[in-house]
Amino acid sequence: MRRTARARDAARAGSDRKAGRSRHPNRRPKASKPDPRALSPTDPAAGPQPAEGLPETELAPGLYLVATPIGNLGDITLRALAVLHGADRILCEDTRVTGKLLARYGISTSLGAYHDHNAEHVRPTVLAALRRGERVALVSDAGTPLVSDPGYKLVRAALAEDLPVTAIPGPNAAITALILSGLSPAAFLFAGFLPPRQAARRRALERWAAVEATLVFYESTPRLAESLTDMAEALGNREAAVARELTKLHEEVRRGRLADVAAHYRLAGPPRGEAVVVVSGPERGELDPTEVDERLRTTLAELGVREATAKLAAQTGLPRGELYRRALAMRNGKE
Ligand code: SAM
Repeated sequence: MRRTARARDAARAGSDRKAGRSRHPNRRPKASKPDPRALSPTDPAAGPQPAEGLPETELAPGLYLVATPIGNLGDITLRALAVLHGADRILCEDTRVTGKLLARYGISTSLGAYHDHNAEHVRPTVLAALRRGERVALVSDAGTPLVSDPGYKLVRAALAEDLPVTAIPGPNAAITALILSGLSPAAFLFAGFLPPRQAARRRALERWAAVEATLVFYESTPRLAESLTDMAEALGNREAAVARELTKLHEEVRRGRLADVAAHYRLAGPPRGEAVVVVSGPERGELDPTEVDERLRTTLAELGVREATAKLAAQTGLPRGELYRRALAMRNGKE
């Protein structure tokens, strides 16, 4: 029934287009000259791009995890549009945010909320719909669902019942920042958000310090300066990049040593928008012995020999035994 209505709408939209009319609520008056805004994929007011040309193939039942843009509304795949168009319903974090995306592409599939505050309550109804053979698309406000966004428990529950789950890959802020950072993408660890409280944040950073890979963090811009300062302290003064407002008009990537980037944001104040911090892995063997001694002395001022050694070994990747001997000598006043 619903599909018939949709097919009728699509056919009507097609004949309207031919006649130069639009039934979409975002319709704008016909301009005699092309409006440059209509070319801007970031502008939701640019008017609908009706879901014409999308494959009309029937979607198989199941849960579809659909990645959506992280800023620039043009960054959406043809498959994502086809699934959003063909699904029986779309679950999203904020219906206003996803509503804008759907309006931009002339998609009228019904929207329901699925977020941290209602997930426990909504999940059983979604599972019941999947059991009935519905096609349900899950999106987040931006990027790839489940990545620091809701959806993990729903996927686990669907898989536990052998219900079909598939993904429509696309934008993700962590990967976009990583490839723009200039830091090695050979091995990387996505650490998500650090804890907001300083003590917990430092503990988390100390755990990541030993990982032999580029580290990728999401961070809220008001906390950027404090977090970068803690990173410089816990990870050592590694190379880093802060990637901000990715895919948007004011995209910016600030590269440098952690201490310098932290100093920049302490001085400049919190930047606008959203940011990802990318930090290089431990810089094995590149440390000057005098610098190591200096860091060991500073660490020993706060910690015991064993803790200071472990901390510096994690930060630098230098052998623990060698650091322990140097730390002992310092503590005993031999150096
Ligand atoms: N699921 C999303 C993804 O796939 O990237 C991430 C959602 S998480 C709730 C939001 C965080 O992602 C922001 O605080 C920021 O760290 C990062 N982020 C999202 N969009 C971004 C953008 N356009 N530029 C920089 N960072 C962004």
